[in-house]
Amino acid sequence: MMDFDAHLAAYAAHSSKSRGRRHPEPAPGSRSEYQRDRDRIIHSTAFRRLEYKTQVFLNHEGDLFRTRLTHSIEVAQIGRTLARSLRLNEDLVEATALAHDLGHTPFGHVGQDVLNECMKDYGGFEHNLQSLRVVDTLEEHYGAFDGLNLTFETREGILKHCSLTNARQLGELGQRFIDRSQPSLEAQLTNLADEIAYNNHDIDDGLRSGLLTMAQMEEVELFARHRHAVEAQYPGLPGRRALYETIRLMITAMTADLVETSAGLLAEAAPQGIDDVRAGPPLIRFSAQMRAETTALKRFLHANLYRHFQVNRMRVKASRVVRELFDAFMLDPILLPADYQVEGDPMKQARKIADYIAGMTDRYAIREHKRIFSLDQF
Ligand code: MG
Repeated sequence: MMDFDAHLAAYAAHSSKSRGRRHPEPAPGSRSEYQRDRDRIIHSTAFRRLEYKTQVFLNHEGDLFRTRLTHSIEVAQIGRTLARSLRLNEDLVEATALAHDLGHTPFGHVGQDVLNECMKDYGGFEHNLQSLRVVDTLEEHYGAFDGLNLTFETREGILKHCSLTNARQLGELGQRFIDRSQPSLEAQLTNLADEIAYNNHDIDDGLRSGLLTMAQMEEVELFARHRHAVEAQYPGLPGRRALYETIRLMITAMTADLVETSAGLLAEAAPQGIDDVRAGPPLIRFSAQMRAETTALKRFLHANLYRHFQVNRMRVKASRVVRELFDAFMLDPILLPADYQVEGDPMKQARKIADYIAGMTDRYAIREHKRIFSLDQF
């Protein structure tokens, strides 16, 4: 058998030592276990839906804004670079990154918040848990099992957060939330690659949309410093190129900081394997200074972009769509496609409706809302 782990550090997740799949399968042979996970994710239906799901801007607002699909690809790209630098498992990071948002509702975070409120008497709704549900049960691709039957390590990476109540129902996978232990370094890393990706691409999208201005962005120290470095190197460089150069430098600074800080922590803690990693403190981190600067950037984006009144208008409209769909389906489950109707069990019916709505793309949800509520459309 090929050795896929030879280049990895001792503390990496080794494909040959995976905790395995819920339904045992023969080893993939020409691929590592995590490559197989990644390939299954790419072929899934939920993955293709990411193309039409919102990140910050609704899908139809412009062709060049990030969607959950391009976001996920950017997370995978940044994650792989980081993984290679730290001799961690790139395949596992890539699989986790491509799957991390599979459970996202239409309309970004507002969709998840509203669905969670709608589901409050029926076990709630968490998008991380929904991503796991997609890969564990909802995908219908294989003859022998529901879901994609991914490895423990990929599933562990997908489940970034989880409430204690839900963790108690997840067995081995939920245990770390009860013990407060760490996931693999690859999972820790993917989480931060996610943050690097959205903090940077949201600046680009925010400026492109006109909701943010360059002058405003200069209030953010991390941005201003790199913007001035670009200006010094290329005096008078026009708008878009100057912006991309700035963002490029910011991504480089964040990844370099993360690699340097984490390499230091790893050298100090010297975990001998993934079990040591799980028992220890988080080892993939930014320096204190970079953490403070990215927090300032996040606060800025929250106040000036994510809560911009024009974004708020879409958010409020979107929340209405999700809530009205949920209420209509709960009241009259006969409006649902036959395989989503459950008789005599409101808990199960509510969960089916949450699955149905969470699986919708932005535009599908808008169309479905019209089909249900408009007297001119059927
Ligand atoms: Mg993400």
